[in-house]
Amino acid sequence: MQTIGLIGGMSWESSAEYYRIINQEVNRRLGGVHSAQCLMWSVDFDAIKRLQHDGEWDRLAEAMQEAALRLERGGASFIVLCTNTMHRLADAISSAVSIPLLHIADPTAEKIKAAGLRRVGLLGTAFTMEQDFYKGRLRGSHGLDVIVPDEDDRRIVHEIIYKELVLGHARPDSRQAYREIIARLIERGAQAVILGCTEIMLLVSEEDSAVPLFDTTTIHAVAAVDWALKSA
Ligand code: GLU
Repeated sequence: MQTIGLIGGMSWESSAEYYRIINQEVNRRLGGVHSAQCLMWSVDFDAIKRLQHDGEWDRLAEAMQEAALRLERGGASFIVLCTNTMHRLADAISSAVSIPLLHIADPTAEKIKAAGLRRVGLLGTAFTMEQDFYKGRLRGSHGLDVIVPDEDDRRIVHEIIYKELVLGHARPDSRQAYREIIARLIERGAQAVILGCTEIMLLVSEEDSAVPLFDTTTIHAVAAVDWALKSA
């Protein structure tokens, strides 16, 4: 088994889900008392959140590069960055280490394409929904047609993530707000919705949507197990 190197803490609530899913998936495949061989470097999210909202992406790149180097030095075979938003820095991270980065958008897009779907709604932080690093990869590398909520809905999705979900709070009124936003994406032709923030799965599940949901936390964690076991 290869060693999975996780950059976590963004937030720890979703990193805990990665740890659970990765271990359960290894055990499901290998049986017995098998569990995952992995390392996690977990950051203090307060500092990260502040730098994100101040637009200090160079300083964030340094922090992510430092985390990736720690994992590489610790023996990780590849890097799993447990947040969609920070994939804005995927290239900067890759350039700092000699081990590969498993990009969260790739296994997500592969699953969507395998389901025969093309037009997808994207929910995530404002950074993920509005900037090009994520939508651009889904469109350019995978040929998906990506739509995002309108401005008011994007603000609601973003605020619920940073004020509630990263603290592990799943409020019924917030779930209802997400349901309505998902319904509006479906009205605009979304055949599926990407939960493009690793905490959204704490709030929303299939029953909240009339179209399939693609949860990036689960997809990314299971893809990490694929990589870890592929040359075992
Ligand atoms: N976990 C979130 C994501 O997947 C947001 C937290 C962050 O800003 O990294 O985008």
